[in-house]
Amino acid sequence: MKNGLYIVASPIGNINDISPRAVQVLKEADVIACEDSRVTKKLFNLLGISCAREFIIYQNYNEEEQSPRLLALLAEGKSVALISDAGSPLISDPGYKIVRKCREQGIYVTSVPGCCAVITALQLSGLPTNRFMFAGFVPNKEKARVDFLQDLKDIKTTLVIYETAPRLLKTLSAIKNIYHFREVAVARELTKMYEECQRGTAEELITHYTENTPKGEIVIMIAPPEEDETNIDIEGLLKQKMAKMPLKSAVKDLVSEYNLSKNEVYELALRIKNEQ
Ligand code: SAM
Repeated sequence: MKNGLYIVASPIGNINDISPRAVQVLKEADVIACEDSRVTKKLFNLLGISCAREFIIYQNYNEEEQSPRLLALLAEGKSVALISDAGSPLISDPGYKIVRKCREQGIYVTSVPGCCAVITALQLSGLPTNRFMFAGFVPNKEKARVDFLQDLKDIKTTLVIYETAPRLLKTLSAIKNIYHFREVAVARELTKMYEECQRGTAEELITHYTENTPKGEIVIMIAPPEEDETNIDIEGLLKQKMAKMPLKSAVKDLVSEYNLSKNEVYELALRIKNEQ
């Protein structure tokens, strides 16, 4: 086996999804760089691959410490297989820094591609796949979560985010407040026995997952904005609302429905009122 770094994808649920090339590389590599050796050794045992090799724990937190070790082994002519607990390394998993360092030192790097939850979820969602943006994990804290979703709102592609089951309802509720009626898909337990993909508005999905407590691993996808969502006739809508309710209520309604700037809508309302 040629000396270098091999980025090896592992299954995200169904063990049969590992490729024959991945098995061969994992069998032959001198060193295994992994997130958690217990998880990787369990996979090796299931696949009948020998664990009699050096296993090096390579994580974001110990990157600075472990990368010189890996680079030294590669310089000695060893082959290193980089593997995540599940799926494709580097996708919300460690790896890009060691790839960069290998490239800087002219070390051979290759990918042994395979499962990735982003791609599997998109394939099942029925949402547009011609353009998408993967944004990683939704932040845990309330304000950070809202800011994160707000920042992505104007991107005109399908959005893909990783989430965990206990936080799904909170995130769907933030999506409802920010994305309103946009179509959302939740893919759960991909390639596993209870795989499912539900699609609807955030509100419909909140109802579904309130009645059916979500379990397992989750990918959320949000459809791109409709053309008319980015070109809404704010003035027209505001005039209609002002004809039916007091100015302040009309502003409040529109701001929350379309997530607009309160000051801007208020100024517009005052101008409309003065012109009437
Ligand atoms: N590198 C992995 C990949 O290629 O997808 C992702 C690793 S990331 C640490 C773990 C997250 O990926 C989970 O929290 C979940 O959002 C998503 N994920 C992984 N496996 C999944 C599965 N079988 N079904 C749904 N989501 C999954």
